[in-house]
Amino acid sequence: MPNNIIEVDKISENPLDRVHPKMKELINDDETSYDIHCHIMNFESVPKKYGFMKLPTEYQAKHNMVDKIEDILHILKKDTETDFASNIAYFLDFGNQKSIKEVADKLISYYPEKTIFTPLMMDMEWGWESKPFVPYDKQIENMQNLRNNVFPDKILPFIAIDPNNPNVFEIFSNALINSGGFFGVKIYPALGYLPSDNNLMKIFEVCEKKNIPVTTHCGGNSIHTTKQFIRVQGQEIDTNGELEPIDKTFTHLNPFASKKIGEFFNDPKNWESVLYSFPKLKLNFAHFAGGDEWEKMKNNETSQVARIFDFMAKYDNVFADVSSLISNRTIYNLIRKKIEDNEKIRSRTLYGSDFYMVTTAGNFRLMKADFIAAMGDDIMQQISKINPKQFLFSKPYSNTIS
Ligand SMILES: [Zn+2]
Repeated sequence: MPNNIIEVDKISENPLDRVHPKMKELINDDETSYDIHCHIMNFESVPKKYGFMKLPTEYQAKHNMVDKIEDILHILKKDTETDFASNIAYFLDFGNQKSIKEVADKLISYYPEKTIFTPLMMDMEWGWESKPFVPYDKQIENMQNLRNNVFPDKILPFIAIDPNNPNVFEIFSNALINSGGFFGVKIYPALGYLPSDNNLMKIFEVCEKKNIPVTTHCGGNSIHTTKQFIRVQGQEIDTNGELEPIDKTFTHLNPFASKKIGEFFNDPKNWESVLYSFPKLKLNFAHFAGGDEWEKMKNNETSQVARIFDFMAKYDNVFADVSSLISNRTIYNLIRKKIEDNEKIRSRTLYGSDFYMVTTAGNFRLMKADFIAAMGDDIMQQISKINPKQFLFSKPYSNTIS
């Protein structure tokens, strides 16, 4: 029987109560930096089927098959390790790790010792035509184990919340109580829901009150629901500036030709009604609307990035992370310039990598080093040390700083 109640009383208002005691020293160390957007998952967490692609169910058979694909991709273009096929092989190798512990080991190896990571989960059970190899509740258990027993001083996991999951309130409550092992919430609207979905609005009300940070996917439209029929309900702001219900139905969707679906669901405009209702919510727009939108801004075209800037100007706790943009060297200068020129953007931009999704674009160590060099020490200090602490640990609801 699904539980319809969020156990609000069991969730602390103090974010530090959700931090493992072993991490507290690291948080107080000024040298500590943060990767606010990374993924510690392997291919056990992805759906079994995507269109015509279907991997074997049994672990070893799947592992061997991905291994073979990697070998083929690597030899497609001999003598080079940086062609597109080699990059895909490099990406597959991360996902093909035996457990999330091995993926975490790899991620940690790229960073200085004093680094804290916030791995973001995905609940792929409801927006896809097929279920993941490992059910979501088991994935949650694996992440709790990683946080409690393996890396208590290194990771602050974010629980994925899908409002179409019938156990969504129970999952949220259990994750965010002190012993739940989770620190924040991850939203992925392109899986087929609006941020202003009724279930999510109830959750955001608690997140605002209990100072729980929320990160939403925003940009990069290729991964989205593969369902052919979706009905979404939520709220929008009408022309009089008032909340108005939305009820939309999408039919006959073609999962391979519907970049539009990603575009519709990832539009930051959909968050307008959420921020209107919960103006102190700590919200991070992941990928800062995405590389394509930054290219548009560079060419002086209308861009969703501008809407995020507007939100930052209007709401004190709106942030955006540069994850995945670190692979896009042509926009480094524009990012740096925006941060330098505007105090609001400077104090709300967060460093994140999108490890290891970003490795489809090339070598992780190289792109990270290039990005850091392009930003310079002063900006990196701000976006990887000062701002993440504000996003994670401040208590805007009770008007006090951690
Ligand atoms: Zn990501």
